[in-house]
Amino acid sequence: MGTERVYNFSAGPSMLPLEVLERAGAEITDHQGSGMSVMEMSHRSKAFDKIFQDTKADFIRLFHVPDSHKVLFLQGGASSQFSMAPLNLIGRTGKADYAITGNFSNVAYKEAKKYGQIRVAASSEDRDHTYIPTQEELSLDPEASYFYYCANNTIYGTEWQYVPDTGDVPIVCDMSSNFLSRPVDVSKYGIIFGGAQKNLAPAGLTIAIVREDLAGHALPYTPLMMDYKTMIDKDSMYNTPPCWCIYMLGLVLEWLDSKGGVEGMEKIKHRKAQMLYDVLDGSKLFTCPAEKGSRSDMNVTFRSVSKELDAKFVEQATAAGFTNLKGHRNVGGMRASIYNAMPMEGVEKLADFIRKFDQDN
Ligand SMILES: *Cc1c(COP(=O)(O)O)cnc(C)c1O
Repeated sequence: MGTERVYNFSAGPSMLPLEVLERAGAEITDHQGSGMSVMEMSHRSKAFDKIFQDTKADFIRLFHVPDSHKVLFLQGGASSQFSMAPLNLIGRTGKADYAITGNFSNVAYKEAKKYGQIRVAASSEDRDHTYIPTQEELSLDPEASYFYYCANNTIYGTEWQYVPDTGDVPIVCDMSSNFLSRPVDVSKYGIIFGGAQKNLAPAGLTIAIVREDLAGHALPYTPLMMDYKTMIDKDSMYNTPPCWCIYMLGLVLEWLDSKGGVEGMEKIKHRKAQMLYDVLDGSKLFTCPAEKGSRSDMNVTFRSVSKELDAKFVEQATAAGFTNLKGHRNVGGMRASIYNAMPMEGVEKLADFIRKFDQDN
């Protein structure tokens, strides 16, 4: 492994732990004496079944998933869940509530409108998605089949700091960009889903945690592959699952376990983020658009006094080995994504770089 690794602040796909990549590299042509790569194995083979079951068991253990919920390893990205959730859940009353706090929840809202009567339970659009609405600001319909929100707004850099109280209405939550960064009381949710490529594995795997009693009530025209029941009944193996990504998830979970699990991640994620927010708040040049109290520990968004200076910052940061700091094209500025695999050292060095840039300009 002679090449230099950079500190990669990409929003996704993003950094994976070096130990995981090295282990995958070492096993790439011969997985534990099988004489073949995981990429070449039948998904019905004994060797792969062990990888699959061990990975699922580790996920359930580390994320504290109760027996009432099933863990599914799917494809199609988090975006396919924008359709799958309404198709499976909206049949109960034909209505659902959505909190719109950024781009992805807005896309999910528009998609759900195809299948039923969708209400906006809250929107942060009035202040450019720089904050998360409070519980009091949510307008909830007790008749809704479900309430939908996105736990961490990857593009705007805001994160829900509480689980909404929706009474008996099941909660559907997109956790793509803060999955396994902290413990979650899964029993409070109907469905949790996320694409793996932000915090867990390579792109191609989508994880859905489904309260079992919510499955089996899909709209009649729901495609077979989009019915949670199909996948629960076949333990995610109705068809070929994303085998390599599941194997990689298994390695990431082993790494996570060695770092104290989600509790271990929770201990350091806030310190990592706070280090950047402190430097940015204390600078003359930079501001953070996300309001205090709503700021994300995963995606730190910030900007300088001008577009020209933003461009200069990104260019000099890249040259110094801090890559992918350019903000999303919808919002401009900068964004440092500091998921589980970003080491403390990378964040410390970026904080130093920001401080120095602030002094020099
Ligand atoms: C990246 C992202 C998505 C889109 O995920 P895909 O796997 O590309 O479909 C959805 N929601 C959130 C919060 C994301 O960060």
